[in-house]
Amino acid sequence: METFLRHRIFEVLSGLAAGKGVKVYVIGGWVRDLFLKRESKDIDIVVAGSGIEMAEAMHEALGLKRKLQVFKNFGTAMLHYQDWQVEFVGARKESYRHGSRKPIVEDGSLEDDLKRRDFTINAMAISLNKEDFGTLIDPFGGQKDLVKKLVRTPLDPDVTYSDDPLRMMRAVRFSTQLDFQIHKPSFEAIRRNAGRLGIVSMERIMDEFNKILLADKPGRGLLMLQEAGLLGVFFPELEALSGVEVKHGKAHKDNFIHTLKVLDNVSDRSDNLWLRWAALLHDIAKPASKRYEEANGWTFHGHEYLGYKMVGPIFRKLKLPMNEKMKFVQKMVLLHLRPIVLSQSIVTDSAVRRLLFEAGDDIDDLMLLCEADITSGNPEKVKRYLNNFELVRQKLEEIEEKDRLRNWQPPVTGEDIMEYFGLKPCREVGVIKTAIREAILDGHIPNQRQEALERMKEEGKKMGLTPKP
Ligand code: ATP
Ligand code: MG
Repeated sequence: METFLRHRIFEVLSGLAAGKGVKVYVIGGWVRDLFLKRESKDIDIVVAGSGIEMAEAMHEALGLKRKLQVFKNFGTAMLHYQDWQVEFVGARKESYRHGSRKPIVEDGSLEDDLKRRDFTINAMAISLNKEDFGTLIDPFGGQKDLVKKLVRTPLDPDVTYSDDPLRMMRAVRFSTQLDFQIHKPSFEAIRRNAGRLGIVSMERIMDEFNKILLADKPGRGLLMLQEAGLLGVFFPELEALSGVEVKHGKAHKDNFIHTLKVLDNVSDRSDNLWLRWAALLHDIAKPASKRYEEANGWTFHGHEYLGYKMVGPIFRKLKLPMNEKMKFVQKMVLLHLRPIVLSQSIVTDSAVRRLLFEAGDDIDDLMLLCEADITSGNPEKVKRYLNNFELVRQKLEEIEEKDRLRNWQPPVTGEDIMEYFGLKPCREVGVIKTAIREAILDGHIPNQRQEALERMKEEGKKMGLTPKP
């Protein structure tokens, strides 16, 4: 342990603290991760005194160029040293009044400070003071819980969760990230208090939710959210995927469980948060599009299109970015059946061309999602799908090589058409442009300017247009 503490930051800090006669401790996530051998560059320092003053002194002693960030309202300050981020705060005590979410915050001892923390594994500190440098302070048994792989609150869980309901999300988040169990009484308290998550801002909820999604195996975390009764509070659309309906002895699969498998499959192969979101939402419209047909049993016709329409409103409600990330998820949801449909029929060049044209640079992500979507329990079926899939991949490569269709623009533009026929922007221009694009995608004409111009003339003639004299 002392070797880690030999870092320049701790040495300088220890010296400064001795000079000022105040006590300093490293606390929270960094201490936990030290014992878990997870490398962390985020250091939280608690000062039994003013955190801001200590930060200012450190900033000067280290001779840092980058400005010290001071948050007066919170009594905290943050500095950056190499690739380390160090946050300073004065030790504090929090008391919550019934009926109010805002705690009363006062200066407190280190013990008070540890007591207000969320979990025992996050409520450990290491002294940086000369007399007992490197000593662990662990009043709630965080060490033991690290060994037992337990997420447990330092106080009565009903109190901890009710004081700040976000901690329920954090319990699931740490349990998922670290592959720990949530202590049983704690989990029961979460179930009792789940509804209180509703008073927490969506931004804070999403911070934790995205961390769950970015874990190695996020599926387990989502299942916990559902079992704890938290998921429905902020994401009822996802919760609605859960369950199985039976009619005339026919059951459909549980789409929530399926979605979690797809999510884990994608997560095995990609760290892209937004592709993980696409996995989460790919079947989101199944409840809304579910029908029972006498002839075919359960069907979900059009769920990809309906799902595509749901992505925007869901992102808006969850306070997720309404930018190209959202558009990417929309596109994945809309196209998620296309490769699999392809793999089930004879793979024609034109179908592959169309897919390349629509997916553009996102084709690799789409293929990944689509393969992850194969969760059938029937090994024969899985094998057949995967074989056909390989065929689609080969074909994609071939056509790509031949036609270079990614981010493709047809060889004749709207301007060309207007110029040739002497037109202003109008419906006919669009019709001709589409006809040329379709002819190329269908393979009726090659992807060449000369042939495209010929086709333009033919199409114009059909509509009674004549070339500009
Ligand atoms: P990571 O940075 O890897 O997400 P962390 O443990 O550092 O993990 P932070 O959210 O950075 O988590 O919080 C730092 C510390 O502050 C925690 O270890 C915990 O002691 C305390 N903490 C953070 N949020 C809360 C909260 N809502 N309630 C109580 N204590 C909290
Ligand atoms: Mg942290």
